[in-house]
Amino acid sequence: MAVHFHEEDLPAGVLAPGPIAVDTETMGLVTPRDRLCVVQISDGHGDEHLVRFANGSRYDAPNLKAVLADPARLKLYHFARFDLAAIDYYLGVVAAPVFCTKIASKLTRTYTDRHGLKNLVSDLLNDDISKQQQSSDWGAPQLTDAQREYAASDVRYLHRLHAVFVERLEREGRMGLAQACFAFLPARARLDIAGWADRDIFSHD
Ligand code: MN
Repeated sequence: MAVHFHEEDLPAGVLAPGPIAVDTETMGLVTPRDRLCVVQISDGHGDEHLVRFANGSRYDAPNLKAVLADPARLKLYHFARFDLAAIDYYLGVVAAPVFCTKIASKLTRTYTDRHGLKNLVSDLLNDDISKQQQSSDWGAPQLTDAQREYAASDVRYLHRLHAVFVERLEREGRMGLAQACFAFLPARARLDIAGWADRDIFSHD
């Protein structure tokens, strides 16, 4: 169990087959303005890989892009909408097929409005993660140990949460609805980038 740090691309062959957990850290919430700094990946077997992109990066990361674009690999996210937009905009790939634990939580845990990753890890896995570094400077020349640990922890629990939510979605009869939502997410991310971030195109107004 270790956190592996890489510059500009993932080494080839470091991931076991199967679903991968994916997260991103950026300079902020406005995708075209706030550059992609880190992509985190885990295959669920205990190691996390952090791929760091420097300021001015060309985002020429063939190994990482191949893994993200692989249609045979399910990608697990928490709030996929944001990560898909950053990956689409900066790396130029659609990182699907998608499973989003935030959407799965909203579709099954209708008895609460606690759908943050920290809430899910606490309520469903009885573990604790710190979100203290969430709004730290991911563009700094050197990432601190606390930032690396935070970035890794954001992908560490997604396989276990996925297993919980598959059961819950099936129990509640909402797997089909969840899958339809997940399939739409790459388009939702494109709408965000294209200027419809704050507009619900399904609403009457
Ligand atoms: Mn994160």
